[in-house]
Amino acid sequence: MAHLRFKALERANGRPKIEVKAPGKISEFYGEDVFGMKEMQQLLSPEIFKKVKKAIDEGKKIDESTADEVAAAAKSWALSKGATHYTHWFQPLTGSTAEKHDTFFDYLSGIEKFKGSQLVQQEPDASSFPSGGIRSTFEARGYTAWDPSSPMFIYGVTLCVPTIFVSYTGEALDNKVPLLKAVEAVDEASVKVCQLFDKKITRVKPSLGCEQEYFVVDKDLYNTRPDLVLANRTVFGHSPARGQQLDDHYFGSIPPRIYNFMKDFEYEALKLGIPVSTRHNEVAPSQFEVAPVFEDINVATDHNQLMMDVMSKVADRHSLKVLFHEKPFAGLNGTGKHNNWSLITNTGVNLFQPKSSAKENLLFLTFFINTIKAVYEYADLLRASIASAGNDHRLGANEAPPAIMSVFIGSQLSAVLDELEKKGNVKVEKGDNMYMKLGIDKIPQIILDNTDRNRTSPFAFTGNKFEFRAVGGAQNVAGPMSVLNLIVAAQLTAFHNEVKKEVGKDKDSDKRMAIVKVLRKYIKESKKIRFEGDGYSDEWVEEAEKRGLSNIKDTPRALDSYLSKQSKKIFGDMNVLTETELEARNEIYWENYIMKIQIESRVMGDLAVNHIVPTAIAYQNKLIANANGLAGLKIDNTEVIKTIEKMSGYINTIKSEVVNMIEERKRVNQIEDTRDKAIAYCDDVKGKYFDKIRYAVDKLELLVDDEDWPLTKYRELLFLR
Ligand code: ADP
Ligand code: MG
Repeated sequence: MAHLRFKALERANGRPKIEVKAPGKISEFYGEDVFGMKEMQQLLSPEIFKKVKKAIDEGKKIDESTADEVAAAAKSWALSKGATHYTHWFQPLTGSTAEKHDTFFDYLSGIEKFKGSQLVQQEPDASSFPSGGIRSTFEARGYTAWDPSSPMFIYGVTLCVPTIFVSYTGEALDNKVPLLKAVEAVDEASVKVCQLFDKKITRVKPSLGCEQEYFVVDKDLYNTRPDLVLANRTVFGHSPARGQQLDDHYFGSIPPRIYNFMKDFEYEALKLGIPVSTRHNEVAPSQFEVAPVFEDINVATDHNQLMMDVMSKVADRHSLKVLFHEKPFAGLNGTGKHNNWSLITNTGVNLFQPKSSAKENLLFLTFFINTIKAVYEYADLLRASIASAGNDHRLGANEAPPAIMSVFIGSQLSAVLDELEKKGNVKVEKGDNMYMKLGIDKIPQIILDNTDRNRTSPFAFTGNKFEFRAVGGAQNVAGPMSVLNLIVAAQLTAFHNEVKKEVGKDKDSDKRMAIVKVLRKYIKESKKIRFEGDGYSDEWVEEAEKRGLSNIKDTPRALDSYLSKQSKKIFGDMNVLTETELEARNEIYWENYIMKIQIESRVMGDLAVNHIVPTAIAYQNKLIANANGLAGLKIDNTEVIKTIEKMSGYINTIKSEVVNMIEERKRVNQIEDTRDKAIAYCDDVKGKYFDKIRYAVDKLELLVDDEDWPLTKYRELLFLR
């Protein structure tokens, strides 16, 4: 087997250089494959364009005759750009995107056609997508419906229509439906609260900017690692002698081969209207990051999904593989996707931007404090929203940050909240400067310098936005973003009700004082969730436990909070998901988890038994011959014998533990209840065997002759130039 590894290494090191040049100035090709507002304005009659724009701005439905016009315009635009097919592009709960291509060409009439009805709705043959039992396979009826708020685009030769995916009885079957509904909920709740301050605010939209981390490895080397191919992560592999201790890779210069790949995928992304703007190395060797400028949350979500796809496709041209898995390599930095999130009003105000005027600052503080309170109240639900088999290696595993939800706000804002907590009940008389009395007349507008950055917090305020950092690298952000917007919506609604009550109590009371009173209460109540220290330290785990914060370490259990009474209530109240939908989804998430662990366990067993053990035995036989030879010559062979013994120990461990693991899998597979089965896979298959087997294999890697080792090693995978 080792010869495959060396052949691949030879190919990886001998690649011809691929130089990538920009197709022109970015301003000339940015968004050229997008059927955006500009294109619609050009191709639609003014009257139709106005209707479409209004519908998009207000999130309203588009009627059939308008849809016909849009379809006709989209078709002629797409044909002029060489497209031959169209597809409804959607995001089922498998985690990726799905499409089914249909040709524009109509065989009967001999011309290309695209009707409004084809644009608006389609029935994909989608019986194989998970539905959690909502839509049983024999009545495999679900449909995709056009989402005009995300623009159509051409990908390859196909016009892609962003859509949502629902069952005929109306249940959500995808990632986008709950997101769109949560966005609506947070809009409504935010507007109500904003109206306490400013009647001109009639619409509030969430924005999102995703910083995407990823690893890159050579494609041939990747193909020598069945674990990477099948499970997207290495189940074995000893850490390289030079890990990330030196951090010299971080912000260092980007290796030329990667640099050309980056440019290449960025140009593709830019053509698709994805506003990629920054690129740099990440902490671990061969780890990088790309970040677009923030956009409307719905579009940003689609763009992140699309970008991951573009990256994978372009990587192929460079004989590379992109890994989005949360922990492809043990002992090295994991892969996350920081979700930068804010709320922006129709009047152009970012509600998380501290202002210079004290009055406006109360609005800022209202949203700021309510968000912290939301994270406090619904920490477990937020934790559930980032649960996945992959992310379990990043959150709560040995070397990773813990799975504790906490909020970092920086010393300056901590001081502001402390002040408000202290002074919040001073008497404010007529004629007083209330803001001064409360100590909130001055809030530093530029909150953070680099020394005040805390990179270990799962949820951090970074100057004018919150950054949800615990999201996994491979995840569809629609999940966590649905939950974040939902919990903030629920919290703002509660806040609005409390303020109204306060105002109702006392006719003369100042509305602002009522607001301050409730905010002060929230500051006190949610104090426990605020943490400014090192989130990766053991002390924090202890401290958090004392504070009574949850630290839910694994996916099967984390998912439970989707079904708590509290969660069901807000999902229902805010009209985001029904109980049936929540239950169906959890069924899918647990199934998904089971599948992932099952695959990892199988890959582990196969590799160990078919590749590692035979290699180790062959090498051990060489050592035995050597030991005998030495003995024949009356030369001391104790060291060789020690190695032989050590190897025997590891080989025996592997053999017996793999057998035990398979037996355990057989037992666990009999469990009927999906949740119980997922927990058993977590505790009894993964928990009892993965580390044990890995430990023995990784030890053997250090003992067996490098020439014989079958698996491409970390140092070979990771130090690509
Ligand atoms: P860092 O690595 O320091 O956290 P980056 O500049 O890499 O910061 O990423 C910041 C991300 O936050 C970018 O995607 C940026 O567009 C986004 N962002 C900036 N302002 C906002 C905002 N108001 N709302 C949402 N995202 C924002
Ligand atoms: Mg960041």
